[in-house]
Amino acid sequence: MCYAIPGRVETIEDRYVTVDYFGEKKRAINELDGLKIGDYIYAQGGFVIQSLPEPEAKSILAVWKETFFELQEMDLRLSRLDTESKGVDAKTLRILDKAAEGRELKPEELYHLITLETPYERELLYKTANFLRRKYLGNSCCVHGIIEFSSFCKRNCHYCGISTNHTGLKRYRMTDDEILDAVREAVEVHGFQALVLQSGEDPEFSAPKLAELIREIKRRHHCLIFISVGEIGIDGLKELYDAGARGILLRFETSDPELYAKLHPGSLLETRLEHLRKAFEIGYLIVTGGLIGLPGQTPRDILNDILLAKELHAEMFSFGPFVPHPDTPLAGNNTPDVELILGTLAAARIADPENAKILVTTAFETVDPGAREKGLMAGANSVMLNVTPERFRECYEIYPNRAHSHEGIPEQIETTLSLLRGLGRAPTDLGV
Ligand code: SAH
Repeated sequence: MCYAIPGRVETIEDRYVTVDYFGEKKRAINELDGLKIGDYIYAQGGFVIQSLPEPEAKSILAVWKETFFELQEMDLRLSRLDTESKGVDAKTLRILDKAAEGRELKPEELYHLITLETPYERELLYKTANFLRRKYLGNSCCVHGIIEFSSFCKRNCHYCGISTNHTGLKRYRMTDDEILDAVREAVEVHGFQALVLQSGEDPEFSAPKLAELIREIKRRHHCLIFISVGEIGIDGLKELYDAGARGILLRFETSDPELYAKLHPGSLLETRLEHLRKAFEIGYLIVTGGLIGLPGQTPRDILNDILLAKELHAEMFSFGPFVPHPDTPLAGNNTPDVELILGTLAAARIADPENAKILVTTAFETVDPGAREKGLMAGANSVMLNVTPERFRECYEIYPNRAHSHEGIPEQIETTLSLLRGLGRAPTDLGV
């Protein structure tokens, strides 16, 4: 999925191509040999993933054409910024007007938005974020798949249910064949074009072993691979990039070094940030963010988290609520308020209106079944579906009762597509 619409290559300059989609031009990085002007391609996350024969592309485009414009129109209708501003104070209005014009807000102004209290004001914040999402990025919504291939982890993060200290957890480690089969099903049966491979920090999956796996996936399939295996080391990052990984999902969890050290005994925020900085230098697409509602975290921390994600060149912001797990040191704490979660997504959109993909996380869906729609109407434009074989999912218990754990892949796809259709969104990724 991410049913990327085929596009036609218009120009080629070194590694960059311009691609036409029904008149819209997008740029993408090409790593395919022999690509020519006039070829039809699929792009994901700004990378050309594969080319396809012209007749096939044309028949897909014929099916898409009408829907493409219909969805855009519906999105336009749903994301209008009406001038209704009942109950909104003058300062808030001024800041949101400035945001709607696409002007950069000062940190204090963003902070003001995160801490808005009245329902009218928050409503206008979400609408402004949604307006900006459409204005700059149109109606495309990324739908990536995630495969959680091992729940073994050597770390002891205080919030996490697969922490090494959770000795009661039934753990699993998928074999290479099981992973390759899960990838095959996601890509060949269900049409996913971007996959995240996630695990705990499992010493069994060394960088060379992961590299071999990624190389094999790239030999067999056309898809964009994101790694999410924790701190694999700077050499490991290079090795996995060389093997064909092009994205990394690595949250810094919190931008407050003290809170970080408290929640991750023996680890430093700086090490994690070093990975993210190096990953960007190497060329990875960066997906990062933090946990919302950690005990001891303040709204000021959340502002700093958003600013840090931007500074780290996040191409996708991944911010989700902390959900307490009963077998961790943070058991007994509360999940954050839904408005704080939505406010974070909206503020992230306003902080990076033109480029960011903003994810509605499964954790958010776990604390609020209406999260996807709410998030997508508050600036978000990305979701991830769990394509781990169902028999393993319960054991990847980072927190309990994760949303969609018991839904098969076709069911998840169907509900996602129908939600997106209803909101005028297209499950596509048209490149940069
Ligand atoms: N080993 C990888 C993947 C970790 S699990 C890594 O280090 O990046 C993926 C994410 O789950 C973590 O980054 C964390 O933000 C989130 N997570 C863990 N425990 C959680 C909890 N109790 N509530 C919400 N999210 C949690």
